[in-house]
Amino acid sequence: MTESPMVLVINSGSSSLKFAVYAMERRHPLLSGLADRLGLEGATVSFKDESGKTVRDLKEPTHAYALDAVLEEFAARDWSGSLAAVGHRVVHGGERFSSSVLVTPDVLVELEAISPLAPLHNPPAVLGMRVALARLAVPHVAVLDTAFHQSIPPSAYLYAVPMALYRDYGVRRYGFHGASHRFVAGEAVEMLGLDRAGHGLVIAHLGNGASATAVLNGRSVDTTMGMTPLEGLVMGTRSGDIDPGALIYLARRTGWKWDDMDTLLNRRSGLLGLSELSNDCRELEAAASSGHAGAQAALEVFVHRLARHIGGLAMSLPRLDAVVFTGGIGENSARIRSMAVRRLKPLGLSLDEQANLRMVGGAAGIISEGNRPVAAVVSTNEEWMIARDTAELAGLTRSQ
Ligand code: ADP
Repeated sequence: MTESPMVLVINSGSSSLKFAVYAMERRHPLLSGLADRLGLEGATVSFKDESGKTVRDLKEPTHAYALDAVLEEFAARDWSGSLAAVGHRVVHGGERFSSSVLVTPDVLVELEAISPLAPLHNPPAVLGMRVALARLAVPHVAVLDTAFHQSIPPSAYLYAVPMALYRDYGVRRYGFHGASHRFVAGEAVEMLGLDRAGHGLVIAHLGNGASATAVLNGRSVDTTMGMTPLEGLVMGTRSGDIDPGALIYLARRTGWKWDDMDTLLNRRSGLLGLSELSNDCRELEAAASSGHAGAQAALEVFVHRLARHIGGLAMSLPRLDAVVFTGGIGENSARIRSMAVRRLKPLGLSLDEQANLRMVGGAAGIISEGNRPVAAVVSTNEEWMIARDTAELAGLTRSQ
């Protein structure tokens, strides 16, 4: 047993279960890993800690066996008695959840009721919760990607379609990546010495999925993702914004069905679709440098859309103190940041080339010249945010 209480963070997907274990005094996991290919042949579970990575076959390719394998590892490390709470990442909380919540039977029923809004993501998360609840008699907490954005006003969350669609079907913008935006906003306020009660930020979370959020005094007031995580920025394989008229046209012209459109917009578009090469920004940067026209076009569209949305989000704020880059691309791609910040001149930003080149691989700091607003880089840590919320709601720590 270790002295400090431990929190297990679970991210349960349809064919995978990601996990991380935190001792609450440190923000890096003691152990993390992934059970992969659940429901398929050849399911494995991997464990990673400071001493390296091991991979094992799973006895059965189910979420239950995956969690059992994690708990066996706990027992082998003599940690079982230290596990004090479990945090679950959940994609969609609809309008019902505006903060993280202790999981009760009622909460599970409510999350199941919201499942039609996120049919690929919420059911496996609820399954993961049920499996974990059956095995671990400690507090369980659900941390919802949408919760942070429940402070967005109707003027920003309503689509201009008949109001009955909102009332009857919940058609509105919800926003996602909430744990990341909330964490990064908090870190930026501290790093930049801003007033907790008087700041305006635009956070650009740029990973495989990408979204940007306007944060006023610690609360989300606008964001680029919508009813689903498809709207907004160009992503690895997702289109982001597209005229719905283009889809009507394509459906009439080709006879494609909604499932085809789903695959087209979620899996074959974005950087991959534009470049006809890859969804991976690093690979595209290398290809663009050696003259690949598709890769160049993909990066240019990515940056154009990003700058346009950052500019738009700034207009949802009464003041702008910083534009903050995070996520795999935001934290590591000096090139994308440089292209983007150059486009943000009308907001009063100019790039500090040297500082920009230094902010890679987890470094955090300012990458612009002059006073506010500034452009900055902060590393996100969604799992730590989930662990923190979990510890707080489970009564292991005080609110921060
Ligand atoms: P996810 O949304 O899956 O968590 P990440 O936040 O890890 O994704 O971001 C993945 C993206 O970050 C990929 O497009 C990858 O190419 C990009 N990336 C990682 N390192 C670099 C780098 N050094 N330069 C450019 N892009 C990078």
